[in-house]
Amino acid sequence: MLQDQDRIFTNLYGMHDRTLKGAQSRGHWDGTAKIIQNGRDWIIDQMKASGLRGRGGAGFPTGLKWSFMPKESDGRPAYLVVNADESEPGTCKDREIMRHDPHTLIEGCLIASFAMQAHACYIYIRGEYIREKEALQNAIDEAYDAGLLGKNAAGSGWDFDLYLHHGAGAYICGEETALLESLEGKKGMPRMKPPFPAGAGLYGCPTTVNNVESIAVVPTILRRGPEWFAGFGRQNNAGTKLFAVSGHVNNPCVVEEAMSITFEELIEKHCGGIRGGWDNLLAVIPGGSSVPCVRGEKMKDAIMDFDYLRGELGSGLGTAAVIVMDKNTDIIKAIWRLSKFYKHESCGQCTPCREGTGWMMRVMDRLVRGDAEADEIDMLFDVTKQVEGHTICALGDAAAWPIQGLIRNFRDEIEDRIKSKRFVA
Ligand code: SF4
Repeated sequence: MLQDQDRIFTNLYGMHDRTLKGAQSRGHWDGTAKIIQNGRDWIIDQMKASGLRGRGGAGFPTGLKWSFMPKESDGRPAYLVVNADESEPGTCKDREIMRHDPHTLIEGCLIASFAMQAHACYIYIRGEYIREKEALQNAIDEAYDAGLLGKNAAGSGWDFDLYLHHGAGAYICGEETALLESLEGKKGMPRMKPPFPAGAGLYGCPTTVNNVESIAVVPTILRRGPEWFAGFGRQNNAGTKLFAVSGHVNNPCVVEEAMSITFEELIEKHCGGIRGGWDNLLAVIPGGSSVPCVRGEKMKDAIMDFDYLRGELGSGLGTAAVIVMDKNTDIIKAIWRLSKFYKHESCGQCTPCREGTGWMMRVMDRLVRGDAEADEIDMLFDVTKQVEGHTICALGDAAAWPIQGLIRNFRDEIEDRIKSKRFVA
């Protein structure tokens, strides 16, 4: 289990002072100017060595992503954009950072922006996060007052402005290019890639979009050294990670743990076990609603990291939003609910997603009631395959994968439902 002295987020539960003074007393904003004075290449090399992979779901190496930004400016400004649109069902880790430990993020924004030669950074926060926005804005104001932001930020010689932008509450704005469109004041619709944001992002300028947690861990990694961070987790799955465990555990919580912890240890140590015991575990969605569910019996010994969940279980770590379902759950109805969500959130600009999400939801609706023919299960699977990988953005995949997981793991349940035509209200 992760020791307290190795936690990056020291005020995750809001038990301590979240003001600047409190954050500084816990070691944040310590030697920030010195870190910056080591230079851009040093910071990026350290981040690469730490093995940090993006915490927003895709798991792309953070240091490598930063290195895609142009080394020399062609006259255009560069931007860092922080994706705080956390809208995926089950995912609720970044809001704890923003409302209780906001200075980890703000200091990270300064250092990361410097590493990308950006004098401005925008944090795009989810529309529903009203209190989080207030807490974060207060912290930004404090940092300006203390000279940690603005001209010669934190005495580093780097001029830096940080803006908080409040979204209007659309899931698709969490997709990085839709987020940029929205930030520019347009409808939040994903852009075709290429060009990638590092070439032409916000206002057509070089931009990197990073998740809140990815940026908030940066200062501590640089202070304690990349070897320290890389010492947690298996190879290629380094670091500590916020896990957000919800559903049928005795004590749902957000907790920072070492990567590659087993599912059993995570649940027993922090969540008080499965409701009704391990024999009552039906299924787990290990990484937020867009990854396939896994049968309960396969999860007990599962290693909670990117490579194991994808390679061994055909699912994913995603945002590490762990949704636990016990045997009281109607798993078909649970996945139908996700289908409904994705149908509602599709932006509609590409046909397989616009039509496919509605089509899949309507078939799922009938499967919940058992009002279908058995061969429709394969037809549904086939349609998910026609949506997956055939759309502009990942929402198409996100809508397809939960259904694929359901069919792969709980086909017997669907068939039984059809046979008995059991009505579920
Ligand atoms: Fe819009 Fe869906 Fe296409 Fe993404 S996949 S661009 S959400 S229609």
